[in-house]
Amino acid sequence: MSETLALSKDLINRPSVTPEDAGCQQMMMDYLEVLGFNNEIMNFEDTSNFWSLRQGKTEGPVFVFAGHTDVVPAGPLDKWHSPPFEATEKDGYLFGRGAADMKSSLAAMLVASKRFVKDYPDHNGSIGFLITSDEEGPFINGTVRVVEELMKRNQPLDYCVVGEPSSSEQFGDVIKNGRRGSLTGFLTIKGTQGHVAYPHLADNAIHKSLKALDELAHTEWDQGNEFFPATSFQIAIIKAGTAGNVIPGEKYVEFNFRYSTETTHEELQQRVLAILDKYNLEYDLNWKLNGEPFLTDHGHLLVAARNAIKAACQIDTAPLTSGGTSDGRFIAKTGAEIVEIGPVNKTIHQINECVKIEDLDKLTEVYYQILVELLATPKTF
Ligand SMILES: [Zn+2]
Repeated sequence: MSETLALSKDLINRPSVTPEDAGCQQMMMDYLEVLGFNNEIMNFEDTSNFWSLRQGKTEGPVFVFAGHTDVVPAGPLDKWHSPPFEATEKDGYLFGRGAADMKSSLAAMLVASKRFVKDYPDHNGSIGFLITSDEEGPFINGTVRVVEELMKRNQPLDYCVVGEPSSSEQFGDVIKNGRRGSLTGFLTIKGTQGHVAYPHLADNAIHKSLKALDELAHTEWDQGNEFFPATSFQIAIIKAGTAGNVIPGEKYVEFNFRYSTETTHEELQQRVLAILDKYNLEYDLNWKLNGEPFLTDHGHLLVAARNAIKAACQIDTAPLTSGGTSDGRFIAKTGAEIVEIGPVNKTIHQINECVKIEDLDKLTEVYYQILVELLATPKTF
């Protein structure tokens, strides 16, 4: 059996629903220790994390594999055709919760590192692992805290491969070289409650905010750029009203921006305020910045990733920035070049999550080739 397959199974068999880790990280650390890595447990509150580093001949460049051992809940068990926490091979696929997101990536990172260290024991630079157990959860005590700690120590990070399942139709067709930012607004419009039969005594919070919300929904925030689609504004929740004969005195609106690198969250906030004020609304508005956008539009890592996929899969990969946010947004703060490379994401978070078994060794090969290109020999690009 391929070692990546065996390790994937071992990880899937551990029910590590966020923030549980179920021994996944200890397994990984034991594996890395044998390869000469220095493990450091960095747990915060209920979240298990570790940082591991193997220094080669020189300190830099520092190449890091980043990922998460936690998985989303299984959902209704009777809908799974095999138990979600018992890795099962069927028809060329490996089934189980986390099979695609992202336990097979973790297994591939381990096996690629083992092969690389064996083939190039005197490699340049350092190989790191930054592993968390809260990527699928509130992302408070995971990667964000570990990165803070590393930055406090001035630990450089040059290149980072995140194991998120980036592929779309076949393994290697898509890698993520950036992500849009995500900004949420929690808006309460204030009016005056009253009887529907006496509108002159009330001030309808729904009516008075319609024009402003319409303008927000139809504003062009930017036009995007080569790597990002235009910034999008979406109202997700509207709540108002208590009874059919009552004019509502309050209206609650929750909205979200997915924004490109053409705009900053400060600019978006200012423009929203300007629109609300233009209509003389009285309101409370709170914000949550879920993640700032990041982009790796050039550099050694992107070149290495493209070459590795070409060699392992005989296809030209497409770097895209679509999809949700990922822990890459926190690592981006270090200034590292970041690329997400992982298996096909069609079944992630679903019932009967699976990964094609033949993709596991290809993924390992891609990670290995990237290590070779970046750390094996002194290279000039
Ligand atoms: Zn994931």
